[in-house]
Amino acid sequence: MSVSGVVGPGIPVALGIPSVKTTGDVVMDDRPDVPGLIDRFGRIAKDLRVSITEKCSLRCTYCMPEAGLPAIATSDLLSPTEIGRVVSIAVEQLGVEEVRFTGGEPLMRADLAEILAECSQRVPGIPLAMTTNAVGLEHRADRLAAAGLTRVNVSLDSVDRAHFAELTRRDRLPSVLAGIRAAQRAGLTPVKVNAVLMPETLHGAVDLLAWCLNEGVALRFIEQMPLDADHEWARADMLDAQRLLEVLSSRFDLREVGRSDPSAPAEEWVVDGTSSTVGIIASVTRSFCSDCDRTRLTAEGTVRSCLFSDEETDLRAALRGGATDDDIAQLWRGAMWNKWAGHGIDAADFVPPERSMGAIGG
Ligand code: SAM
Ligand code: SF4
Repeated sequence: MSVSGVVGPGIPVALGIPSVKTTGDVVMDDRPDVPGLIDRFGRIAKDLRVSITEKCSLRCTYCMPEAGLPAIATSDLLSPTEIGRVVSIAVEQLGVEEVRFTGGEPLMRADLAEILAECSQRVPGIPLAMTTNAVGLEHRADRLAAAGLTRVNVSLDSVDRAHFAELTRRDRLPSVLAGIRAAQRAGLTPVKVNAVLMPETLHGAVDLLAWCLNEGVALRFIEQMPLDADHEWARADMLDAQRLLEVLSSRFDLREVGRSDPSAPAEEWVVDGTSSTVGIIASVTRSFCSDCDRTRLTAEGTVRSCLFSDEETDLRAALRGGATDDDIAQLWRGAMWNKWAGHGIDAADFVPPERSMGAIGG
């Protein structure tokens, strides 16, 4: 089914609405009385991304400014106890099924194990994943796994040390590779590697895939989005997925297998007839906004319904102002009900959001 939705102020997009199971009558111009995080377009958010810091050990050009992001005062960040509380509200009252910690770089928080322990004790059994650059993970993987971390996605754009240093403005490749191996040993599996697809990463793509195949980790390329702090992204400079496939095909035999399920963001190719795959997440050119099931919490405790919407809802003030769990859940429902239809990157008057990826939490 497809309807016309609205992106921001009045930009029409085509939107496929997934079927929604609700109790009682559902009137789509008025929020139905359902516990989950439903929006006006019938999507239900079950995947929570929690940013826990704006700090980072790297300075990837497509994400961070060279000097890093302005520091957030420690007192403005959610504490481990507060994070544990919002995560339990999300899971127990709002139907969230997976939690992923991100940032900035989550490993920059010295109390990361405490955050994980708070969450795993409050909501035992919920998958607690982390998106990380893996710098320093080598020394912490076991402890984080013991605290409740279940798996990691690692961002890695090149296995060539000089190229890595150019892309991230830091010479930390050995630490990243050691971190990936430590994650595997600690059972934080399946470890997935994410690389940003852009002209600068193309020449390292073949070696990166060879390395991932050798190490037994799945590789996915993600189209670059206009979320760099320097606002230098340009649609015309975007690398075509077809070009990446041509480059990878010079060394590997690739057979398209599509998506593992219709709402999975990555399209997959089997490599050399093995059980290994390489994926492409075409978030810009083949947006999956109509199937989006994400809700985001920033490090300062605001709910962000979409990466590209600058509207946020302040949960931290409610948490610290004596609100009950029911009050917080209701605030969160309201924030998600107003989620935009899609990111609208292709619209003529698209304006990138104020916050960059590292400031929102990717
Ligand atoms: N520091 C951690 C890391 O790099 O994995 C977590 C935070 S990072 C912002 C989360 C993800 O966002 C990473 O996979 C990164 O590659 C991706 N990312 C950052 N900027 C991006 C952009 N402009 N377009 C697409 N992906 C981006
Ligand atoms: Fe840091 Fe991750 Fe952004 Fe790179 S993508 S600068 S590692 S937050």
